[in-house]
Amino acid sequence: MIQLNNDDALRVKPGEKVKVSDFHSDYTNGMSDKDDAAVELNSNIEALQQLQDKLYAHNRYSVLIIFQAMDAAGKDGTIKHVMSGVNPQGTQVYSFKTPSAEELDHDYMWRIYQRLPERGRIGIFNRSYYEEVLVVRVHPEYLLKQQLPGITSVDDVDDHFWEKRFNQINHFEKHLHDNGTIILKFFLNVSKEEQKKRFLKRIDDPARNWKFSMADVSERQHWNAYMKAYSQLLSNTSTDYAPWYVIPADKKWFMRLAVSNIIVNRLQALPLKYPDLSAQERDKLEAARLSLMASR
Ligand code: ATP
Ligand code: MG
Repeated sequence: MIQLNNDDALRVKPGEKVKVSDFHSDYTNGMSDKDDAAVELNSNIEALQQLQDKLYAHNRYSVLIIFQAMDAAGKDGTIKHVMSGVNPQGTQVYSFKTPSAEELDHDYMWRIYQRLPERGRIGIFNRSYYEEVLVVRVHPEYLLKQQLPGITSVDDVDDHFWEKRFNQINHFEKHLHDNGTIILKFFLNVSKEEQKKRFLKRIDDPARNWKFSMADVSERQHWNAYMKAYSQLLSNTSTDYAPWYVIPADKKWFMRLAVSNIIVNRLQALPLKYPDLSAQERDKLEAARLSLMASR
């Protein structure tokens, strides 16, 4: 497996104050060959298949993988490629959209809780509760719909409010971790120029027209506000138990390889094993064999 100067190069250290601009969106760790990367990706996909099988049989841990990114960074494609080999029964992907009226009538984790992966499974969040400190931070008027005590106008929303949200998120993730959920968070870091190229491709290529959204183009005007929000969340919510990885996303082949490496390495570090049978269970199996042999 290719070593990305170990995964630590892409991980935000707990407590480290970072800015998105500290990270290169076109970093490839010296690799230039797409084909080599594809071979590596395939071997990671095979490894992931086996690890997932064991995770499922072991049935003690669940794995939560979060993807956040600007539009056209490649969330969907990365999920599709990296998870392409795994048994669909052991994975679940959920995409979080604008909250419904019912969802807004509860706290923001309510809808999240119902979508968390079961024990033994890998759950993928395509967007997540982190939207609550991203899109909602860039458009604080969205908060007013949440009917929170003390928030009656956008002027009530100060830095302290967002710090409290970061703390709530850290506590939530600690709770999940302590109960057997392994959490990995990926920010797919695409540059503004590369996003423009990809939007133009969506306009020019008829097969990609369906992916184009005018709303994505208008959201682009808030690029700097998003980058500030990302910098803050990376600085405040990367912990030992739920680390953030900033994945260079300008080269899709590298992004997919990097994500698959980190997932495989994390799962390999878990004490997973196929369940051992007790002497009693073994006796039962033996009895079942005898009974099957004796039957017609
Ligand atoms: P695609 O890449 O296929 O377009 P998408 O994830 O962009 O997928 P959309 O339906 O286009 O899906 O967008 C979902 C929208 O929902 C995003 O604009 C996102 O910011 C918004 N959203 C998600 N969670 C929240 C939230 N908690 N509050 C407000 N908006 C949210
Ligand atoms: Mg969209």
